[in-house]
Amino acid sequence: MKKIAVLTSGGDAPGMNAAIRAAVRTAIYNGLEVVGVRRGFAGLIEGDFFLMETGSVSDIMQKGGTFLLSARCDEFLEPEGRKKAADQLKKHSIEGLIVIGGDGSLRGAESLYREQGIAYISVPGTIDNDLPGTDYTIGFDTAMNTIIEAINKVRDTATSHERTFIIETMGRTSGYLTMMAGLASGADAVLIPENKADIEEVCQILIERQKHGRLHNIVLVAEGYKGNFRTNRDLTESTAFLIGKEIARKTGQDTRVIILGHLQRGGSPTAMDRILASKLGAKAVELLLDGKSSRMVGIVGNKIQDSSVEDILNGKKEIDLDLYKLNEVLSI
Ligand code: ADP
Repeated sequence: MKKIAVLTSGGDAPGMNAAIRAAVRTAIYNGLEVVGVRRGFAGLIEGDFFLMETGSVSDIMQKGGTFLLSARCDEFLEPEGRKKAADQLKKHSIEGLIVIGGDGSLRGAESLYREQGIAYISVPGTIDNDLPGTDYTIGFDTAMNTIIEAINKVRDTATSHERTFIIETMGRTSGYLTMMAGLASGADAVLIPENKADIEEVCQILIERQKHGRLHNIVLVAEGYKGNFRTNRDLTESTAFLIGKEIARKTGQDTRVIILGHLQRGGSPTAMDRILASKLGAKAVELLLDGKSSRMVGIVGNKIQDSSVEDILNGKKEIDLDLYKLNEVLSI
């Protein structure tokens, strides 16, 4: 193998730049030529490539987002789009690909490999931490810290004004980020898609707390939590507002809703994310050099390992509901 390419795809995550840097420098260290692809699979189809040198990745590790840019690309969902991408790679004599992204990006890279034989290794970059094959994904730690910092600030006004705050966090299908942020911030209640806890139970908890004179509360809600509410997020307001109204009605408490939104995806990556990204980016290149493909690098039990993307895509990361229970115990 003489020449490889690196791209970032799907939702951006803090630490992606550190992963790019690690992949580029490991490749150069091992005598490979390495090109950057702009805008993920869209750039692959267009052949938007540029040669990278060690200096190309200077001064990026501390920045959130991805300096290679990311995009969602519908054309790549079709075999014709993937054929165009493979033709571009062949035209530029690129023999291997490093794909940094979430599960959608893994699916895309896997299809490209199966249909067109393009060797690739993927690096998990998503704040959701929803991929099996790794205990942590790049970006998760930073996002969790961002949420905690936001909650710290909200707590100041929650206690001063004796208010209940409903805080919506990211996580359409996975409540992992919300659950862990809840544990780390001492949230009074946490609502996630994986748990059946409903609004009645939350109101009971708040009413109990009220009896002890505690009128300030933090309720975390993952955006994918529906409970008994029938909402279509695209057409109506977020579930967090419905929860806020319900809590206000049932408890009589002064209630406010905050949607943290995209600020959870930004910011300078934490040391944990930078170190994880450095290890995974380097390992991805080593695997390509070993002639491996269709693998995702990850960290399991503090050891860097790789697993089959097919297994990852067919699997599901089970959330540890003991941690959910622990938060309930600790927030009484
Ligand atoms: P993420 O990687 O963060 O999960 P997306 O789900 O948006 O983000 O996926 C990123 C891109 O990967 C999509 O825009 C598309 O180009 C490609 N992709 C996603 N799913 C598939 C699929 N099933 N087949 C081929 N390409 C896919």
